[in-house]
Amino acid sequence: MAKIINGKEIAQKVRADVTKKVEKMIAQGITPGLAVIIVGEDPASQIYVRNKERAAAKAGINGQTIQFPTDVSEVVVFNKIQELNQDDSIDAILLQSPVPSQIDEEKMQSAIDPNKDVDGFNPLNIGKLFANRAGYYPVANTPKGIMTLLAETQVELQGKFVVILGRSILVGRPLFALLEAENATVALLHRYTSDELRHRLLQQADVVIAATGVPGLVRGIDLKAGSVVIDVGITRLPDGHLTGDVDFLAAQDTVAAITPVPGGVGPMTIATLLQTTVELAAKHHQMELQEL
Ligand code: NAD
Repeated sequence: MAKIINGKEIAQKVRADVTKKVEKMIAQGITPGLAVIIVGEDPASQIYVRNKERAAAKAGINGQTIQFPTDVSEVVVFNKIQELNQDDSIDAILLQSPVPSQIDEEKMQSAIDPNKDVDGFNPLNIGKLFANRAGYYPVANTPKGIMTLLAETQVELQGKFVVILGRSILVGRPLFALLEAENATVALLHRYTSDELRHRLLQQADVVIAATGVPGLVRGIDLKAGSVVIDVGITRLPDGHLTGDVDFLAAQDTVAAITPVPGGVGPMTIATLLQTTVELAAKHHQMELQEL
């Protein structure tokens, strides 16, 4: 029977560490500041933003939400980003996705100061990640959280074969770069990968990371005995339950460890957002993170 990787517990550990670091920063006169820009009334985005705000407050971070109406012009959002870039009390800026069509999301992400780019979507930070540059730069929080889950579960990556399903800039692509930097051999699969090739590659994978939003895409018979499975997918079924991309019950009999949905990757994303906020604040104020 597989070990169930407890994302809630690991996220709690990350959040406790963040809270401790924030306390020490505040004692030195610095309160980390996170600004979240949201445009429109999309209900899911409203919930995400409220959760981020609540989590930030709980960790002692100064969270600010900037709400714009659906019909706001691009220049107003752009000017707000410029203002936050200049604001010394703000260390981290995030633009909640999606934004209405009159706003060019990529242009806005590029406008965020790379040193305050808490989601890691500024092309300068993406470039550094893909070039495997040394030094600190922000990386997208879901993939970064998955790397923490793997590290906390003591999953060896060097020389291992990892299959990622899904190539979005939010999950699959940054994960490819992060895993490759750990000397894993990585295959990045997508919707044009044939069923036959997917099955063959999955059967050889030491680690499988599924991030497609296609329930049941990874079956028990696809998986190698003793492999580790990280299920990023979240789909709400007609009966209201949440499910991942992996047939969890079938996989459990074969693999060594697996994340549940919910309670696996999900809790790591917000915890990692807080962690990145603190890292950016430490960098901004020239504080040594290790000493906090
Ligand atoms: P997306 O729609 O942007 O990307 C989906 C990807 O899946 C695409 O690259 C597509 O090519 C690939 N894909 C589709 N069918 C495939 C197939 N048959 N084989 C291989 N690849 C296939 O989605 P996203 O934003 O990357 O999110 C993916 C899933 O992860 C969603 O269910 C989303 O809800 C979830 N997610 C969870 C978290 C979290 O914090 N837990 C964060 C981000 C996304």
